[in-house]
Amino acid sequence: MNLKRYLKDFPLLAKAKTLIYLDSAASSLKPAVVIEKIKEYYEQYGVNIFRGIYKISEKATQEYEKTREAVARFINGRPEEVIFTRNTTESLNLLAYSLVYNQLKPGDEIAVSIMEHHANFVPWQQLALKRGARLKIIDIDDNGYLKTPEKSITKKTKVLALTYVSNVLGTINPIKEIIKRAKKINPGTITIIDGAQAVPHLKVDVRDLGCDFLAFSSHKMLGPTGVGILWGRKEALDELSPFNYGGEMIKEVYPDRTIFEDIPYKFEAGTPDIAGVIAFRAAIEYLEKVGMEKIRNHEMELTGYALKRLTEEFKSELKVFGPKNTKDRGGVIAFAFQDFHGHDIAQILADENICVRAGHHCAMPLHQRLGLASSARASFYLYNDENDVEKLIKGLKKVRKILG
Ligand SMILES: *Cc1c(COP(=O)(O)O)cnc(C)c1O
Repeated sequence: MNLKRYLKDFPLLAKAKTLIYLDSAASSLKPAVVIEKIKEYYEQYGVNIFRGIYKISEKATQEYEKTREAVARFINGRPEEVIFTRNTTESLNLLAYSLVYNQLKPGDEIAVSIMEHHANFVPWQQLALKRGARLKIIDIDDNGYLKTPEKSITKKTKVLALTYVSNVLGTINPIKEIIKRAKKINPGTITIIDGAQAVPHLKVDVRDLGCDFLAFSSHKMLGPTGVGILWGRKEALDELSPFNYGGEMIKEVYPDRTIFEDIPYKFEAGTPDIAGVIAFRAAIEYLEKVGMEKIRNHEMELTGYALKRLTEEFKSELKVFGPKNTKDRGGVIAFAFQDFHGHDIAQILADENICVRAGHHCAMPLHQRLGLASSARASFYLYNDENDVEKLIKGLKKVRKILG
């Protein structure tokens, strides 16, 4: 990949030449085209959508709907199956409440995995507690792979909620096979995929995966904050009752009843983040232009390089979690370094202008399972290269010198 060409597209990297950004799993940087598109909206047609019949409102509405089409194209869905939310977290909560809350009976089961982000764990745990349902947790093996997921799926499984790519272990779960096996055990199981770490980094095709729902966030894939996606199969969405009530989601309202809009508008009550949604299209088009396969290959190579270099330099002093085979993992490397606290590692690296994350990365059950209080995490995207890895290694040597 000709990285130099991409680097200049990201103002933050182009300006701060010494910045080593290794925290794209928390949020990616944004290319200039996305920032420009936000500006274009506010400067040229920055008004509300749907309500107006005047020209600039029509233009804003058109731009907003073009993003819906772009998202659908990107994941091989249909535009009416794409719902705009605020983020992955809201998409998953929307499902927990409007999909299952009223249907869930005591004794019903929800299956999740121990590697879930809190956004795909806490809503299901709380729902199970409130409704007297059982939360079944799929375990992992020593290499960070899911352990016999079908053992946690029974005829009583109402929901299977799984992450596609772990934001800590980096594990890419065999979602397609797991869904197939789950549907064989219980065709009524609703399958929900947390795609927050997958859609930005892999080619994701919802029809090929065979899932019912997929959630992800714009801000982790070069787009603005404030925009999340919930994709659902049309039939699955039609059955869903709305989560938020209010303007834009209704056809007719009477003192004693309301007729709701069709999908996707049924789920988009109130004024959305119009600027964010519109600029999200620029991010999608940017990713399409680079090519998702190219991005995946670049990250796979870079992760392989980083794993090799970290082992060479630090041997058993540094423990990396997750699969050894880079084919099975995304560009996320969580590690423990001697018995240093993750926050101390991140602080010393921050002094070198290296951005990594420390803590439990919104995955406390996983850290408990690994027997860790915290870990440090470096994560890559298309704008990172071997030089960033070498800077990280140099930084970690300093960490050892100071803390060791
Ligand atoms: C970041 C992340 C989320 C939450 O995304 P938000 O945009 O903060 O809602 C959920 N799941 C995974 C795997 C993530 O990495």
